[in-house]
Amino acid sequence: MIKDKLNRQFEYLRISVTDKCNFRCTYCMPKEIFDSKHQFLKKNELLTYEEIIEVAKTLKPFGLKKIRLTGGEPLLRKNIEYLVEGLKKDALIDKVMITSNGSLLTKEKLIALQKSGLDSVTISLDASSQKVANIMNPVNNNYILVSEAIDNVISIFDSVKVNMVVIKGVNDKEIIPMVEKFLGKSVELRFIEYMDVGESNNWSLSNVFSSKETKDLVGKYFSLKKLPDLIDSTSEKWSIDNYALNIAFISSISKPFCSECNRGRLSANGNFYTCLFSDKPYNFSSYFRNEKNNLSFNDYFIKVWSNRNDQYSQLRVINKIDKSKKNKVEMSYIGG
Ligand code: SAM
Ligand code: SF4
Ligand code: SF4
Repeated sequence: MIKDKLNRQFEYLRISVTDKCNFRCTYCMPKEIFDSKHQFLKKNELLTYEEIIEVAKTLKPFGLKKIRLTGGEPLLRKNIEYLVEGLKKDALIDKVMITSNGSLLTKEKLIALQKSGLDSVTISLDASSQKVANIMNPVNNNYILVSEAIDNVISIFDSVKVNMVVIKGVNDKEIIPMVEKFLGKSVELRFIEYMDVGESNNWSLSNVFSSKETKDLVGKYFSLKKLPDLIDSTSEKWSIDNYALNIAFISSISKPFCSECNRGRLSANGNFYTCLFSDKPYNFSSYFRNEKNNLSFNDYFIKVWSNRNDQYSQLRVINKIDKSKKNKVEMSYIGG
């Protein structure tokens, strides 16, 4: 096992399978920037499923246990269940999960994904009303479709995680309605602090509705009980007395988890990043496309991971980020 400069072991790979999406969430792909002129990756630049499976197989001996497929919208890639099957049965990855906006997750697709061995599904939904959902994502009347997808995931996978990004003054009034919407269901509702990923979403600290604010608000209406922290989990979880629903907080801004960060990220065209906020790609695709390289892939990966010292969110807290650098990669490219 190799460790990075901060003694962190590699275990978890998040793979963006496409940088395209059929939604335009304001905090991720603002429609004014991701418009018809935006240059998305070309089809022949994308890693094929075979190449992705090869990457997973090669990284497994380094400790890789979990893979999350994301994007962009991962369901825009055709037959994504073939990729899941390869990762589970060929690359023997313990846990393969997917995060999706839910709009293309039909019942048939979910059944195919379950058959392929997919372990769990996370769906993003930021509001419990179409009106506010449309403010968060102005291009798609998504609310009913996504709500149906959430119910279908519960019926096929027994439970579902729902991601809600909370932006102050925009959808914080939806926190209690979202809790009420899922009270009786086998859901983990995850409140995510709005993050400064990429350079296009005009993020400001004043727009962050903190986990503490959310927890205090929910605590006014419901009796919460803290659940034990799981090793390697980046969220704090709470149960709500007498209800099936659990809630969780992902506090990347107010309580960063850099010291335990065991994840790498692979873009759809095969660039590896050692942090969500990185601007430095490591070209993995050349190794899986038989291009000439000086080092073997194993030596290259050992070099990359053992030199890793990222802790962007931790540095943000103590105001030590180099703000002159303006080339962080976009969330839709690196995968959330
Ligand atoms: N399209 C899929 C979806 O929305 O679930 C997968 C990709 S999306 C980039 C993955 C996750 O990142 C989503 O839950 C989304 O809400 C979250 N996300 C995107 N931009 C964010 C930001 N600026 N701050 C916090 N979370 C963000
Ligand atoms: Fe698309 Fe997901 Fe980004 Fe929304 S958060 S724009 S659904 S990639
Ligand atoms: Fe990991 Fe970077 Fe996020 Fe810290 S800021 S938790 S190092 S991805």
